[in-house]
Amino acid sequence: MAPKASSPVWEPAPSQEIDVLVVGLGPAGSTALRVLAEGGVSALGVDRAEFPRDKPCGGGVSARTLPYLPQGLLERLPHQVTQGVFLTLRGTQELARDFGRPIAYQVRRDLFDLVLLDSARDAGARVMTGVRSVRLERVSEGFLARIGPHTVLARAVVAADGATSKVLRDLAPGIRERTLTPPWTSAEGWARLRQPFDSRYVAIDLGLVAGGYGWSFPKKDSLWGLGVAGFLRPLKDPRPVFSGYLKSRQADSDPKGVLTWSLPNFRSARHGRVPGLFLVGDAGGLVDPFLGEGIYYAVLSGTMAARSCLRNRRPGEDGLDRPERASKDYVQWLNENIWPDFRQGSRLAQAIYRFPEFFFKLAVRHPSLLSLYASIMTGEHDYRSFSREIILGALERFLPVRRAARGGAS
Ligand SMILES: Cc1cc2nc3c(=O)[nH]c(=O)nc-3n(C[C@H](O)[C@H](O)[C@H](O)COP(=O)(O)OP(=O)(O)OC[C@H]3O[C@@H](n4cnc5c(N)ncnc54)[C@H](O)[C@@H]3O)c2cc1C
Repeated sequence: MAPKASSPVWEPAPSQEIDVLVVGLGPAGSTALRVLAEGGVSALGVDRAEFPRDKPCGGGVSARTLPYLPQGLLERLPHQVTQGVFLTLRGTQELARDFGRPIAYQVRRDLFDLVLLDSARDAGARVMTGVRSVRLERVSEGFLARIGPHTVLARAVVAADGATSKVLRDLAPGIRERTLTPPWTSAEGWARLRQPFDSRYVAIDLGLVAGGYGWSFPKKDSLWGLGVAGFLRPLKDPRPVFSGYLKSRQADSDPKGVLTWSLPNFRSARHGRVPGLFLVGDAGGLVDPFLGEGIYYAVLSGTMAARSCLRNRRPGEDGLDRPERASKDYVQWLNENIWPDFRQGSRLAQAIYRFPEFFFKLAVRHPSLLSLYASIMTGEHDYRSFSREIILGALERFLPVRRAARGGAS
């Protein structure tokens, strides 16, 4: 069943104090807001858009995201389950693999984001949408936010306002400008395929997009979401690359519906400079450097930022007590869990997108490589354990001694 439009917005008093202000209500912000509200921390979420609103995105939600989503969310949304992949090399040779279990859920971002926001509201969070401007400054008691005619004093701020984060520019001017590694670039649009394929599969092409890949995800009513993204260096103009990909897929798309967008490069993220400030989702550079997957990391980082706040509540009470400590905890979690894995994912991207023919031939000879990809989408592996598995597999193939040792053990 399709979700309904969101309920009316909350209006604050002209001047108000809260524990946490969440700016931006995509998957990262709405998740943080919901988890905070569920934990009894007073939180206000604001977004410049009215919901439902769209966002350029393939809308592929990996299976590993499910544990961090509100219960029963998918039942409230039209979606397509995908459980296999068609891998092509420059639109020609083809390799198919069915994993026999869901690896991703294909959703429409306008509806997905709306339902996430409604879940935060249902948990008791206060929400303002269609907000024209939010101006933030650091003061001794926390953060002073001017939201249109209202003034809000917040003890902590969650920046969830996407790849071009204004919060970051307000509170930490110069961080992005000085340290920015160019963002990855992409183009996407919806299309009709003249030769549609099984909609339980996603299609990935290697080789047509220099330093990246092209994708086709099933959407609805025989429509497919197609896109291209470059991860080794920005595609100067992704549109012609996208046209080439459409041609190879024999797809008809409305050229006016083609959107180009940046994907944040995690190497430009600088966390922990402003105590009490949490950078989540795209605003924090949390996009996977190999697959370009951002929804999982948006939802995960929103959850972890909120949980860090919940761990730093006043003893026996609901309010946030130690915002600086909470943001430090969050940065530590990123340092221990996310960045080491992204560095490994980035190495994998360098190897595979630089030498697509080699990888394709390898995958033809060893289809288990594609199963490893599925195990990332389902959360059974991360990039570090994935790479270890590949190296072990290679060792076993080429070093009989090791194979014997493993065989002996089992
Ligand atoms: C072409 C393309 C395809 C993609 N495909 C996939 C995919 O298939 N699967 C996947 O997992 N990821 C995909 N991604 C990545 C994914 O879309 C993002 O990583 C994800 O949307 C990040 O969520 P977020 O909540 O951080 O930011 P967003 O979803 O960008 O939300 C940010 C919110 O902040 C609001 N905002 C912005 N500025 C302000 C402001 N100044 N004041 C108030 N509010 C503001 C916006 O209105 C918006 O609602 C894709 C990205 C692109 C570009």
